[in-house]
Amino acid sequence: MTRIVIVDDRITNRNIFSRLASSIEDGVSVEAFGDPREALVWLQRNTPDLIITDFNMPEMDGAEFTRAFRAMPGCSDIPVIVLTVYEERSYRLKALEAGATDFLQSPVDHHEFVTRARNLLRLSRQQALIKTRAVTLERELDASERSRQQVLRDSRERLAQIVDTLPAMVSACDRDGRIVFVNAHQADFYGIDPEAVVGQDVSAVFGDEHGARGRSYDNVVFENGMALPPFEETLISQRKEPRVFLTTKAPLRDSTDKVVHVLTTSLDITDRKRAEEHLLHIAHHDSLTNLPNRTLLQDRIRREIARARRGDRPFALHLLDLDRFKSVNDVLGHHVGDEVLKVMAERLVGTVRETDLVARLGGDEFAVLQIGVQQLEDVKQLAERLIGTISAPLVVEGREIATTVSIGIALHPSDGSDIQGLLKAADLAMYRAKADGRNTYSLFAADMTTLMQEQTELDSALRHAINRKEFTLYYQPQIELATGRIVGVEALIRWRRPGHGFVSPGEFLPLAEENGLIVPISDWVLREACRQSKLWQQLGHNLRVSVNLSPVQFRKQNVGALVVKVLAETGVAPQTLELELTESILMQDPESVAENLRQLQALGVSLAIDDFGTGYSSLAYIKNFPVDRLKIDQGFVRNIEDDPSDAAIVRAIITLGHSLGMDIVAEGVETQEQLSRLIAEGCDEVQGYFYSRPVPPEGILELLNGGGYMQAG
Ligand code: C2E
Ligand code: CA
Ligand code: CA
Repeated sequence: MTRIVIVDDRITNRNIFSRLASSIEDGVSVEAFGDPREALVWLQRNTPDLIITDFNMPEMDGAEFTRAFRAMPGCSDIPVIVLTVYEERSYRLKALEAGATDFLQSPVDHHEFVTRARNLLRLSRQQALIKTRAVTLERELDASERSRQQVLRDSRERLAQIVDTLPAMVSACDRDGRIVFVNAHQADFYGIDPEAVVGQDVSAVFGDEHGARGRSYDNVVFENGMALPPFEETLISQRKEPRVFLTTKAPLRDSTDKVVHVLTTSLDITDRKRAEEHLLHIAHHDSLTNLPNRTLLQDRIRREIARARRGDRPFALHLLDLDRFKSVNDVLGHHVGDEVLKVMAERLVGTVRETDLVARLGGDEFAVLQIGVQQLEDVKQLAERLIGTISAPLVVEGREIATTVSIGIALHPSDGSDIQGLLKAADLAMYRAKADGRNTYSLFAADMTTLMQEQTELDSALRHAINRKEFTLYYQPQIELATGRIVGVEALIRWRRPGHGFVSPGEFLPLAEENGLIVPISDWVLREACRQSKLWQQLGHNLRVSVNLSPVQFRKQNVGALVVKVLAETGVAPQTLELELTESILMQDPESVAENLRQLQALGVSLAIDDFGTGYSSLAYIKNFPVDRLKIDQGFVRNIEDDPSDAAIVRAIITLGHSLGMDIVAEGVETQEQLSRLIAEGCDEVQGYFYSRPVPPEGILELLNGGGYMQAG
């Protein structure tokens, strides 16, 4: 329903206008007032669609009325038509200022009245409609804005959840070093409330050190606007547990591209680090002794060299090589050898200072890096202590094992300025210590470099020696004391090395055993000795020929098969051949060696144990082998007069050997006195310079032709 209010003080006008208004459209209700004040009272409770008011009224003019009406809430848009009698501009202005919508001139043209009123009504309805539309639109817009924000909030929340579930610490700080956020992982690590710390200073939350470091890195990112390359840092958790993190820092920008925050992401790499460290440890340590290996030693030397350049004290490199360790392995087995190495490693570590380094270089080679050397005396003292600790007796599996060591020492910087130089110098010094009879140390001396070169030359010369027919055999007679006759000869190899004269086996056989040339050399010796034996036989001399065997041969070839083959090739009677074995050969692999030896003995070949008394075996052990002869080592013979214990050993060997049905040969007999003692002890045969040095085959023939007798003094 359309409501129209008429305000006019004249009753006639009120009636006319009411009638006209009712005719504007269907369903119009008209409220007419003579007094504008009454109209205002009514308007306070009712909202009309159109007001038509006279201007000239005694109580209140049309302008005042309009102003009062417009001031009421919700009445600003309702159209108000003001009737003026005259075309009076000032009245119209007043009415417009008061909020009038339109004017009608009095006397009123009825048609105009209706048209104007109708148009205004339509207009105001249109406006109202637009307004509601606008409001709806606004509401709709508002709603959609809200949902957009909701989506944003949701995605932010999801993002936050993702950030929280990341197995990394994620946080952001602003330019002032205040925390913008920390994720759950980080909050958990530090035992903090992720929401409570927002806005707080990093140092206050994470501690001064982490805070200060974090800020200085953050500042770099703020300044450069670029992410920092990842770096590793160790952070301490609330449980006081240090963990290693890989941390990256990246700028966070606002819509204007300004860096406002720095995002810090720290990935826990503690386990990976541990695995790496483990691998590193394995790569740098020897698995048997857990000592640092060569790589780590070289690292340390490199560091010490760098430190020495800065003016620190010099250091010494001791290279240790256990003497004759190979025979421990060969004789007692690798498990015993390993045990010995472990014990020696512990002893070495226990002998040096904590700042020194003990490394195992492989096999039976160790190194000691002695730091902070003040005088040469320090170096010598340590070397002596090392020799002492190694040579202390050791019992493994019930066997007492005596080990000695040779040490070569190089000093930095006098003996070498770089790693290779130092290692080489120490190596040469060690070679000298070995040459000096082992169980000793040697300090590097400049002239040792030539020794090294000689060694290399010796190796290549030895390789050609067989083809160039540079080897020859000397023979040393063995005299039967009962008859004074030469009953046998021992074949001893000699090398006629061009430019060096005769080289004794002690100088090249150890090298040949190392580089494997011992096998072809031994083949040649056996063949040559048999060939010579056959010649003597053909000349009517019934002579036993002894040939030395090397432990290496038993490891690399079937000695039994070789002997059978050579005997067949040369046509030598097996009874004339004797093989000299060391105790270490017997103990390599007792069963297979024993089997081999029984076969040989069954053929008629005789067997002698060389250097008896120096090895590990006991007589009781020897009795399991088919041995014909024991050769008492020259060491015992040499001291037989002066050393009562050596004399006792000689006597024991002779007595026990005889009780096992073996003959006894004494080696290295040089004097009449020694000979007399041996005869008195009941020795069977002797061999030594007293009767003859080793000589070429012609020399043996001369001795034989000269009677082959020796007068027992
Ligand atoms: P070995 O088997 O104990 O040989 C005895 C060594 O003592 C020989 O040294 C000999 O010349 C030396 N000798 C003999 N009588 C005396 C003496 O009265 N006083 C002193 N001081 N020494 C004496 P050589 O010929 O230098 O041989 C040294 C070692 O080389 C031998 O010790 C043996 O183990 C080894 N050898 C020599 N020839 C061969 C060979 O053909 N094959 C193998 N596998 N080893 C050999
Ligand atoms: Ca021998
Ligand atoms: Ca010997």
